[in-house]
Amino acid sequence: MTTTRPIGTWRRWAGIAQSLLFLGLPFVRIRGESALRFDVPSLRLHLLGATLWMGELFVVLLATLAATFLFLLVTLVWGRVWCGWSCPQTLLADLTQALASERARKRKRPARLAVAWGLVALVSAVFSAATLWYFVTPEAFLARLLRGELGPVLAGSWAVLGAVLFLDLAFVRASFCASACPYAKLQGVLFDRSTLVVAYDARRDDECIDCGACVRVCPTGIDIRDGLQAACIHCAACVDACVPIMAKRKRPTLVDYFWGDPGAPRRRWRPAVLALGAASAVAVAGTVAAAVQTGRASLDIVVSQASRPSPRWSADGTVVNAFAVALENRGRTPARLRLVLEVPGSSAALRPDEVALAPGEHRAMTVIATVQGIAPGADTPPARLLAVEAAGVRASARAPLVVPRAPPPPESHAAPPDAPAAAPPGAPPPARRSGVPPASAPAPEAAPVASPTPAAPSRGSP
Ligand code: SF4
Ligand code: SF4
Repeated sequence: MTTTRPIGTWRRWAGIAQSLLFLGLPFVRIRGESALRFDVPSLRLHLLGATLWMGELFVVLLATLAATFLFLLVTLVWGRVWCGWSCPQTLLADLTQALASERARKRKRPARLAVAWGLVALVSAVFSAATLWYFVTPEAFLARLLRGELGPVLAGSWAVLGAVLFLDLAFVRASFCASACPYAKLQGVLFDRSTLVVAYDARRDDECIDCGACVRVCPTGIDIRDGLQAACIHCAACVDACVPIMAKRKRPTLVDYFWGDPGAPRRRWRPAVLALGAASAVAVAGTVAAAVQTGRASLDIVVSQASRPSPRWSADGTVVNAFAVALENRGRTPARLRLVLEVPGSSAALRPDEVALAPGEHRAMTVIATVQGIAPGADTPPARLLAVEAAGVRASARAPLVVPRAPPPPESHAAPPDAPAAAPPGAPPPARRSGVPPASAPAPEAAPVASPTPAAPSRGSP
């Protein structure tokens, strides 16, 4: 491989583009929301126009898994391209190179040194603030900053982040890569004999004039001629240093990008690449499918048995259940919903049977169901609670209906003429015609009550 133009120029442009992307992305609005932001108060992640709620963050876990596989694949094929071209540590160190250069000079120039320190402080302040914009919108952040009302949490986070970044850029810089970065330590495991590396062509060792240019420019202070080292971030500064030296001798550079050891044959389709490629493809497809499925469910519904009142037979032969219903409107418009209980072969009435939800509103409520047409002793039929809008069913969930095992006494099947059609939920049952306490007395339940089987909450589906 022959290098024909300074790689450092391309790296600088790549760094500027990525920095602008990082600073600008919080300002981008898609469907009225940040392109990427985790809203802490509502625990929602806004991502490219979609909104992921706390219960849907498994999509983020899937995306993390996919990103991990892709990261391993990229490392196996292209080596430390991340370190040299995209790592924030490298990008910010490049942006503040003026400080390192000024401090390296033998003859210090105080004015330029002060400007360089100021640049580091500015970069630290701006980039630490931009990090917070992924949690608080930049508009809100800047408005509160101008009013002097950032508050202790935001101001404290900014101060801590900014201080850490300043100390890192001022004193640590690339020595972090050489000494502390865990990714650097993994290189020996992740590389194979065909991984792209920056290397010294030892086959032409006799051509090296030992000028030391490649060592002087190295940000981590290593000598590439000593072979592949964990401290090398593959920034290719040594390549750019050697190119003009060797060009004067009309020879190609001694330091360059190579696929594995210089001169060794390259194997593109090796088993590890194929395996990681397949795992990455599956993980990415799973993430996309989960995101699409999650995006469709703009209304979440969870139904479980309410602890009180217990399921029971009513005096008129209906079965009364109480459900704990949790609804969450994940859409961007208000929802006016009618609640319907579907029980095959039976009819059911709900109370309440309507609910209105504002965008983003979560509502937990108890819904009383009165089911007619269940024969005493019959098996419990499957039931489903639907949340219906004018356009159709928005969401539904299995309703854990419980029919008490013991049927009511025969005389309680027929409601007395003056009895209400259905017993109020939770109210004492109506008195029997004979040998029963009055309705107002704290009598045992007229209808036998079976212990409801604990039922797991049922989550809805769109
Ligand atoms: S050896 Fe070369 S590629 Fe590696 S860190 Fe130093 S200058 Fe960058
Ligand atoms: S810059 Fe090139 S010629 Fe100079 S010491 Fe490094 S490898 Fe040798």
